[in-house]
Amino acid sequence: MRRFSWLIPWTLALGSVQLVACGDSIPESLESPVVVIGVDSADWVWIDQHVAAGAMPNIKRLYEGGVRANLASLQPPSKSPTIWTSIATGKRPVKHGIAGFIDNSGRPENQSGRAAATYWEILGGLGQPQAVIGWWVTHPATRVNGALVSDYVQYYDGRGKQLPNATYPPELADELNDLRVDPDTITFDDLARFLDPAIAHAHAEEAEKVLGELKWIYAADETFRRIAKHMYSPGKYDVFTVYFRGLDAVSHAYWRYYKPGSVHLMADPWLREMLADLIPRYHAYVDELLGEILGYIDPQSRVLLCSDHGFVGHVSTKRGPSLGVGMHRDDGILVMNGPGIRKAATLDRAGVKDIMPTLLAMRGIPPSRDLDGHLLGDAFEPAVQKWFDALLADAVPSYDAFLVRADDGGQADSQVEDEILERLRSLGYID
Ligand SMILES: [Zn+2]
Repeated sequence: MRRFSWLIPWTLALGSVQLVACGDSIPESLESPVVVIGVDSADWVWIDQHVAAGAMPNIKRLYEGGVRANLASLQPPSKSPTIWTSIATGKRPVKHGIAGFIDNSGRPENQSGRAAATYWEILGGLGQPQAVIGWWVTHPATRVNGALVSDYVQYYDGRGKQLPNATYPPELADELNDLRVDPDTITFDDLARFLDPAIAHAHAEEAEKVLGELKWIYAADETFRRIAKHMYSPGKYDVFTVYFRGLDAVSHAYWRYYKPGSVHLMADPWLREMLADLIPRYHAYVDELLGEILGYIDPQSRVLLCSDHGFVGHVSTKRGPSLGVGMHRDDGILVMNGPGIRKAATLDRAGVKDIMPTLLAMRGIPPSRDLDGHLLGDAFEPAVQKWFDALLADAVPSYDAFLVRADDGGQADSQVEDEILERLRSLGYID
């Protein structure tokens, strides 16, 4: 039987489990590293339109050579911190403890409130190095076998204020400092990929206000793009995870200008002209982010791309069209591609809680019985599916012993928390 180095710590950690029970040797495809890419609010309804227009070639390549699915969100599909935590833990919110954007005391939810282990904690604990970049609710950064760059890295204000516990190990923050993009340094011309800067210059004062949100959103995605590229190194991490929030935030802030006719939200003609193509162009930018990552990762990698929910644009209410967090659609997206994964296939059903057990299995680890999600066996070639069937027979009750509690020193700076609350409010996430 073929053995992997990671099986040794696994066997040591849970001596009662007999992996040899699987009988058949582990399929070679399970040896390849996994790259997880999270894109908040990505939705097939819009992506398929932009693919048809030739604007998203990388995601097209990825699903044509792999599998795609609608990814059912939680109900209601409104709270990204909750949903991304379900994606990472395979559990319902009542089990993982992250109920929304803010906790009972009105402060932003942070990692101290999480009560279930993530796949990076479990796989890392079993000897498989992990990189986690930008994922929701990962501040204060906790110990991981590898590196963790918390989502709070983007809240650094660029004016000398260092955020404690931004990364693990802590000294990684210094290494990444120069990769951060300060929104205040972004000019109208830097936004030329999204809009015509000449219009912005012609209405400079007003444009400055309207585009403040976009500068901030773009700066955050660029920050994590640069950090991911800097941190990736072939063979260094068994699972490399990176998350981008910009598409969701841009959709919330600027959808009204994209389809003003259908939403009946009136805006000055120059504003509509300047921002009319922002939503499709941000999709194209997300596809470029994807293309860049696909360009530098080990070509033998298995890629899993997902979103937490889709985006509907606006909802009709008795008082007319309305924009807000209710703009989310139930179905997000899932794409998987790489060795051992089926090609040009569509999965009948998949949900956000299924990602985590699927990732464990992809790294040779049986999902535990306390998970609410299920391994997406249909995504894999028959030989791999067969091996997974045997793997499932080895299921242990729980991996929550791998949960890493946030250290006491991990309290966020209250000024930074205030800034976060302000941002969440301005995007309509909270009241
Ligand atoms: Zn959203």
